[in-house]
Amino acid sequence: MGIKIQGNKIYLPKIGWMRFFNSRPIPSGFTIKAATIRKRQDGWYVSIRIEDKTVPDYNTHPITSIKSVLGCDMGIVKLVHLSDGHQIKNPKFATNKKIKCRLKIRQRRVNRKVKGSKNHKKAAIKVGKLHKKIADKRQAYQWKVANLIASRSVDAIAVEDLNVFGMLKRCRPKIDEKGRFLNNGQSRKKGLNRSISDASWNELTQKIEYMAAKSRKILIKVNPKHTSQKCNVCGHVDASSRDKEKFICISCGHMAHADINAAKNIKELAMLNIASTVLRDSEELEPKGSKRLKQRKEISVRSMSKRTEPRNFSDKDIKLAIS
Ligand SMILES: [Zn+2]
Repeated sequence: MGIKIQGNKIYLPKIGWMRFFNSRPIPSGFTIKAATIRKRQDGWYVSIRIEDKTVPDYNTHPITSIKSVLGCDMGIVKLVHLSDGHQIKNPKFATNKKIKCRLKIRQRRVNRKVKGSKNHKKAAIKVGKLHKKIADKRQAYQWKVANLIASRSVDAIAVEDLNVFGMLKRCRPKIDEKGRFLNNGQSRKKGLNRSISDASWNELTQKIEYMAAKSRKILIKVNPKHTSQKCNVCGHVDASSRDKEKFICISCGHMAHADINAAKNIKELAMLNIASTVLRDSEELEPKGSKRLKQRKEISVRSMSKRTEPRNFSDKDIKLAIS
């Protein structure tokens, strides 16, 4: 409250007037709701939340009107595989050789300076700035990808409900009878963990959800179980059907790209979820239900419990950088 903006000056409560770099001017008709000050490696930033009551909220289509779904399978070699056969590449901002090498050099420069000295501090700032650059590049790319996915002509977008936190967990230590630690594969997994962190699927999913809501689409999260092992043609589930990037069904011989097959499975699961929700809603209108219907209802409730409700975005964030 009490935040004012005049040209390239901003008034913040308890601080007063200060100059800043007005990167995005506030459109007319909006009122300032809040400001968030953030310190990053290369300076201070302020995000301003603005509101215009005359702009309507983004209302998503009702679930009954959904006819087409786009399945997205997220990966590391390629960032996203779509059920329509398209792939979106993963630029690997933090795990590519060039950046890794540059980070290593800058970190070494820090380590060689006397702790607590001015030069140590200066070198540390340079490391921080590189980290910031990587993060900013990733953010920009993710918005681009989210926009691309959300602008497809479908009614809903389906993704896997991944437990990324669990995927990043360390391997359980292996101890032999003499109490010595055995190789548990953690050092091998470290690289994979870094790739998972770099791809940051959760953040990308959030951006897709936001962009989808803007274009009146909903995001459906499905259970990731067996999505990469199931054959999309005959429905046979077997881990041996998958050979790295290739998928060859051991039951019917169907051949496909493994991740596109997974994306198609995600799409199908989402369609099933929608169908069961519609069925459940129509059953709730009926006064009496047979035992079988009741059972079916319970199943559909369980499968739908993981579906996230679409968020309503009314406020628009505008980021302005203080110089
Ligand atoms: Zn098959």
